[in-house]
Amino acid sequence: MTHRRLTGTVVLATHNRGKIHELKALLEPFGLTCQSVADLGLPEPDETADTFTGNAEIKALAAARATGTPALADDSGLVVPALDGAPGVVSARWAGPTKDFHVAMARVEHELAERHASDRRAHLVAALSIAWPDRHTETFEGRVYGNLVWPPRGDRGFGYDPMFVADGHTRTFGEMEPAEKHAISHRAEAFRKLVAACLA
Ligand code: IMP
Repeated sequence: MTHRRLTGTVVLATHNRGKIHELKALLEPFGLTCQSVADLGLPEPDETADTFTGNAEIKALAAARATGTPALADDSGLVVPALDGAPGVVSARWAGPTKDFHVAMARVEHELAERHASDRRAHLVAALSIAWPDRHTETFEGRVYGNLVWPPRGDRGFGYDPMFVADGHTRTFGEMEPAEKHAISHRAEAFRKLVAACLA
């Protein structure tokens, strides 16, 4: 498959300062100039798709259309098959208005208990999408598979990290050094695919 190369300026379709910082650090070594929709004062569109790739594409396409420049967006979350895929695309929302992920993790555990679920498998998914003003998109997905533990362990990372143990490991993502998590994470896999297709 032929992919379109990304060169010049790219708009980062997120208002999240942490993501802007992380994406800039990944993209600037490839000679790209990065701006964010936050710098440009653009709003974020509603994430109305029911898939991670769908939502990443909505955000990237809106930013590319508004700026006339290629735009990069991401979307990610936790998928628990025993909960029919929840929390999925609403992973961030399960933390409630105070963005407290202890609340979100407790809800996952509570719902597993309510269903008497013995299957504690889960995966984290990250989608990265680049959109161009002519509506061409290149979208890449990364996954890391594992199991959920209770109680949560470790205070590193973010989100559901303290209850997620990746296959082949014994410590949760919340107990790992950041570099150790980044080497195997869903986000790293999606980014490796993007680099190979559009930047290398
Ligand atoms: P969004 O991509 O900003 O919509 O947020 C995705 C949500 O998924 C985050 O707020 C976390 O709850 C969860 N999530 C995504 N990636 C990770 C991860 O690496 N570890 C733990 N939770 C994650």
